[in-house]
Amino acid sequence: MDKKTPLHALPASPRDFGFFVDGHWIEPGSRATVVRLSPAHDVPVTCITRCTKDDLDHAVTVAREAFADRRWSGLAGADRAAVLLKAAAGIRGRLDELSLLETLETGKPISQSRGEVEGAAAIYEYAAGAARALHGDTFNNLGDRVLGLVTREPIGVVGLITPWNFPFFILAERVPFILAAGCTIVAKPSEVTSATTLVMAEILANAGLPDGVFNVVTGSGSDIGQAMTEHAGIDMVSFTGSTEVGRRALLASAGNFKKLGLELGGKNPQIVFADADLDDAADGVVFGTCFNAGQCCVGGSRLVVERSIAADFEKLLAEKFSRIRVGDPLDPETQVGAIITSAQNDSILGHIAGGLKGGARLVCGGEAMNGKVGRFIQPTLFADVGRDMAIAREEIFGPVLTILPFDTFEEAVEIANDTIYGLAASIWTKNLDKALQAMRLVQAGRVWINTTISGGPELPIGGFKQSGSGRETGIYGVEEYTEVKSVHITLGKRDHWVS
Ligand code: NAD
Repeated sequence: MDKKTPLHALPASPRDFGFFVDGHWIEPGSRATVVRLSPAHDVPVTCITRCTKDDLDHAVTVAREAFADRRWSGLAGADRAAVLLKAAAGIRGRLDELSLLETLETGKPISQSRGEVEGAAAIYEYAAGAARALHGDTFNNLGDRVLGLVTREPIGVVGLITPWNFPFFILAERVPFILAAGCTIVAKPSEVTSATTLVMAEILANAGLPDGVFNVVTGSGSDIGQAMTEHAGIDMVSFTGSTEVGRRALLASAGNFKKLGLELGGKNPQIVFADADLDDAADGVVFGTCFNAGQCCVGGSRLVVERSIAADFEKLLAEKFSRIRVGDPLDPETQVGAIITSAQNDSILGHIAGGLKGGARLVCGGEAMNGKVGRFIQPTLFADVGRDMAIAREEIFGPVLTILPFDTFEEAVEIANDTIYGLAASIWTKNLDKALQAMRLVQAGRVWINTTISGGPELPIGGFKQSGSGRETGIYGVEEYTEVKSVHITLGKRDHWVS
């Protein structure tokens, strides 16, 4: 039986997108365009413009003007909040359209896309409050004749570069916070998942955002993304993507010393102690491995498990892996959809082949699920993995889990921290002391205890070590996009220097 609703049917022809600058759409005209095929169906779904560097320059000029004349930064926080709240309503009003576009371009399950779009609307609502809450500080303790102020001011024009794995949700974890701070934006989404970012530009314009405050240019990372990180007209770049490209962005941004927010890769440990609720832990570990087909920066791809329960836990995992519903993302029952591109598919399969060649024991999965169309990979579990093997050290970004046993608490922490990354970690135990001590010692920007990949916009996100720098979301996420200014005010007559 075909479970697809008409709403979720594949489009008869790809939807054409121009790009969005200064409050209106710009047609591709003579520019090249790229057709995106749905990774699950190999059907053309969107047609995206390849912007030129002149287009980027134009967007930066527009954003600079919009910042300089204070049409947005000069508004009261309450007025900025009103626009963000209308934008949230605009997202909810286009929930079906946005969810379908997201699924068609990414291959993620439609039920998941809907959750992410609804979650994104809730983030805009949270950030509306943050726009009103943002404030500085006063120093009233400098003596009777001095008053000290610390003000927060928007940093200026922000270049926003986003990846393909959560195009709309990651955008929502940045845009409303940048806008709450009073900045203007030039955004460049991933070249394979640009559609929902473009629709967001229209939603913001309809919500009353002044022209030129949010602009979107589309195109390749090596071309437009690189030019953004080098651009002297951009004051800060918020980059979310791989550690390798993040390093390139860091070097490129040195020209005008622009501030850089970096949200990068991870190889995140899931530490399971013998005293955990093992059924809960196994469910969390399977979710942490397979959510978004493993293409998740905070996915828990390294299982650090107490040796005394390792064999039983492995069986529990294998049984749960076998019950995951992998398949057509347009089917509302599907839990794991397609792999984003052929290159990513080949890279994941290459890692699996490397693990087998290196002598790791394949417990389950390990194969591409080749139907007539699309790219899917079985949830894959490796045991007997050497700590130095690539599958234990490199970010695979696919549904692949490696098991690393430990004997003592100290060894668990040591294995968890034995990585260049420090994005996230999960700890599973019923012992409160053990949980909190492990939380203190683990080097990660986000720690989950008896849960994984959960949270909301109130808490900040970001990485330790080579997983990045800076923080997004929460009040920290607004402050990130501000400059701090110190002000000393003399009260009364000055003590003269010239006698
Ligand atoms: P990527 O680094 O290949 O690309 C990310 C973005 O950078 C894209 O928009 C791309 O077009 C652009 N880009 C590519 N080359 C560029 C260059 N030279 N200069 C400037 N921009 C350039 O990453 P991806 O494959 O899209 O996404 C997967 C990666 O993102 C994974 O490593 C994942 O861990 C990471 N990620 C991190 C977080 C986080 O919050 N820490 C969230 C999601 C994804």
